[in-house]
Amino acid sequence: VALCEAEEAPPTRSRPYAGEARFHWKLFWQFLRPHLLVLGAAIVLALGAALVNVQIPLLLGQLVEIVAKYTRDHVGSFLTESRHLSIHLLILYGVQGLLTFGYLVLLSRIGERMAVDMRRALFSNLLQQDIAFFDALKTGQLVSRLTTDVQEFKSSFKLVISQGLRSCTQVGGCLVSLSMLSPRLTLLLMVATPTLMGVGTLMGSALRKLSRQCQEQVARATGVADEALGNVRTVRAFAMEHREEERYGAELEESRCKAEELGQGIALFQGLSNIAFNCMVLGTLFIGGSLVAGQQLTGGDLMSFLVASQTVQRSMANLSVLFGQVVRGLSAGARVFEYMTLRPCIPLSGGCRVPQEHLRGAIAFHDVCFSYPCRPAFQVLQDFTLTLPPGKIVALVGQSGGGKTTVASLLERFYDPTAGVVTLDGRDLRTLDPSWLRGHVIGFISQEPVLFGTTIMENIRFGKPGATDEEVYAAAQEANAHEFITSFPEGYNTVVGERGATLSGGQKQRLAIARALIKQPAVLILDEATSALDSESERVVQEALDRASAGRTVLVIAHRLSTVRGAHHIVVMAHGRVCEVGTHEELLTKGGLYAELIRRQALDAPAPDVPG
Ligand code: ADP
Ligand code: MG
Repeated sequence: VALCEAEEAPPTRSRPYAGEARFHWKLFWQFLRPHLLVLGAAIVLALGAALVNVQIPLLLGQLVEIVAKYTRDHVGSFLTESRHLSIHLLILYGVQGLLTFGYLVLLSRIGERMAVDMRRALFSNLLQQDIAFFDALKTGQLVSRLTTDVQEFKSSFKLVISQGLRSCTQVGGCLVSLSMLSPRLTLLLMVATPTLMGVGTLMGSALRKLSRQCQEQVARATGVADEALGNVRTVRAFAMEHREEERYGAELEESRCKAEELGQGIALFQGLSNIAFNCMVLGTLFIGGSLVAGQQLTGGDLMSFLVASQTVQRSMANLSVLFGQVVRGLSAGARVFEYMTLRPCIPLSGGCRVPQEHLRGAIAFHDVCFSYPCRPAFQVLQDFTLTLPPGKIVALVGQSGGGKTTVASLLERFYDPTAGVVTLDGRDLRTLDPSWLRGHVIGFISQEPVLFGTTIMENIRFGKPGATDEEVYAAAQEANAHEFITSFPEGYNTVVGERGATLSGGQKQRLAIARALIKQPAVLILDEATSALDSESERVVQEALDRASAGRTVLVIAHRLSTVRGAHHIVVMAHGRVCEVGTHEELLTKGGLYAELIRRQALDAPAPDVPG
């Protein structure tokens, strides 16, 4: 019964995963939208705090005016006259503190929630990527996008809203009050400050470049030392210690030059900026003082002017630092969003499923050609044709690197073939639902079983999320694992260490078999399932595998030929093609590649069947 029509297969060619990352504003907006209300409140509070900050210099000026009056003539009470102003100032300080507290709390709430949402979305999308994607990228790179990049983006976002908003408002507000105090002085300030800022920014960017070069040079020197110390045997064997010393010394010298240059640059920058800021104060006092002398300005106003102009300068310095943070935040955000929008070639689910009662488990590879997306020029499989009849055991043997695991990966649909088709019960795998295929049809047991750092119960249930405890016990029994599990004091609730470090190889493998059997797969793939085991564990595991193979379509991939004698068919592959098919006896009498392999293995090791 054809339950679905063959759809056109999606293109499977890879694309480079390291693209130019651009900031995705639309996606950012989607993450921001749920927090708009809170963000609005935070912005209002931040603006309020900034406006209060603008008020403070003006009141300080008035206070100074009173102080000045009392230095001239000592009549009246300073306390009564200044009390009103002081209380006003105190209230402003309090309000300013409260507003700051408020907007910082709100911003951190938005930032943390957005970071959680982003991490979730990124993780979910990463898990959906093609296996080829994971071949091309290092796990460390992916993890750093989840951690460092999200962190960097979050802190930039918070900083830009809080500091940026405050600094801009303060610059604006203070400029207004400055120009009300003295338009002439303000004009002067407006020319001097941006000029100095511009020079400072230029110097700063040159310094940053120098500092980057410095770090790179240090890394180069470290690399030389690392290489020499890590490969000390080779260095010793060639008596190259002196050469390595010289090489390291030269790199160190280079990095010293760079670092001293940087140090001089920083010193110059600090010195010059101190001079500049002091000159600005002196200049303001000098010109302002002459205005006071000419009775165009009061002393208090001059004081206000000084405080306010300092605020402007501090804010502008803040803004220039912030600019660098914005650039860093945007590129971190771009890295986060890059893998959030990437769509896999092979979707996780979608496509048709065959009802359990119609499923026979017949597998066929028709003229399959395949090369790994990250190495497209290297053909791993060429016109590969293989049939796995339902309920039969087929062994796939051949040299290491011959493409056996690749065949299993194609069956799991980790990749799609470049040409040809793989079918299940006559249906192209590409038309079937991949999650159903992997979750219900195929059980895969590999050489290196991977367990998760949780209980044995949960590890077995990984194969079938809704399984009852009884199903878990049954699967464990089928896999020869029940006995050793119940011998542990905590039984099925024993927590296996990270990657199953607390179990022996044979025990881990039996848990992996139980995990695969619990989904009652119609097709079982055993990829060198016993080759990493010692002969005693191998016997127990092999027993479990033999039991599990009954009534299933089984593909046994083996390097050690002693394990495949019982198979219904043996397929020998070499150079990506099938070169011999037959039973053990047939192939032996034929005297081809299989017979040759058997002869060579018999020479290498005493026959494993003979005891002693
Ligand atoms: P076998 O299981 O028979 O030892 P494999 O199927 O693992 O062989 O590998 C076949 C060839 O494909 C080898 O040359 C190997 O280097 C290459 N190969 C295996 N996995 C990958 C991969 N993920 N990316 C690129 N090349 C791979
Ligand atoms: Mg292999």
